[in-house]
Amino acid sequence: MRVDIVSIFPEYFSPLELSLIGKARASGLLDIAVHDLRTWTSDVHRTVDDTPYGGGPGMVMRPEPWAGALDAVTRPDSLLVVPSPVGTPFTQAAAHELATAPHLVFACGRYEGIDQRVLDDAATRMPVREVSLGDYVLFGGEVAVIVIMEAVTRLLPGVLGNADSLTEESHAAGLLEAPVYTKPAQWRGHEVPAVLRSGDHGRIARWRREQSLLRTAARRPDLLAGYPPERLDKHDRAA
Ligand code: SAM
Repeated sequence: MRVDIVSIFPEYFSPLELSLIGKARASGLLDIAVHDLRTWTSDVHRTVDDTPYGGGPGMVMRPEPWAGALDAVTRPDSLLVVPSPVGTPFTQAAAHELATAPHLVFACGRYEGIDQRVLDDAATRMPVREVSLGDYVLFGGEVAVIVIMEAVTRLLPGVLGNADSLTEESHAAGLLEAPVYTKPAQWRGHEVPAVLRSGDHGRIARWRREQSLLRTAARRPDLLAGYPPERLDKHDRAA
């Protein structure tokens, strides 16, 4: 996968050189380029913002630098991702959709956001996804891009050592994961549940399933309400 990120703070993206994203880049599974939006300014101050039409507080990102940037980095198969608090919520399903794209372009907003015409114009040439990390407001889109890239990169074939991790984790099948434990079996008076030490794989799977349902019911009833009833068996209903 090729990824181009446009931002006024390219230095924000050094975490994308670390850990499994760094390894995916080194192995050629992922090719990321970060661009400074100010490259596409034409004035001596390298201005990227101006006052909002209609008045109000703050500044808005001007369309011309964004036009130069997107004209330079997009391709016929690009998908443009614009992090924004007005976007649709970023979910695991959205991560799966982005993970199938051959080319992602991220446009990082700052100030009060990007002039709407940049998105409208781009949408005449490529799919555009405005995605929100949640119902709160960040300073800029950079951190959102790092979050999205973490979620997407994990899904690329060959990135995770054990692909089963992807099917047995929270949000893979619409539920939260059961609690996890490692050694020692006793720690500060807390004991690892005996079933996990039993070696009985059937009982362990049943226990995990029950814990997953109970956790989801307690913490995310919205997820459970949307869970397809046909995926619940008689043991699930009893739990
Ligand atoms: N004026 C905008 C509004 O009220 O919707 C907020 C702009 S915010 C200060 C600046 C930039 O941060 C946005 O353009 C976007 O790129 C990013 N941002 C802020 N909150 C976000 C969120 N919840 N999800 C994704 N990106 C966000």
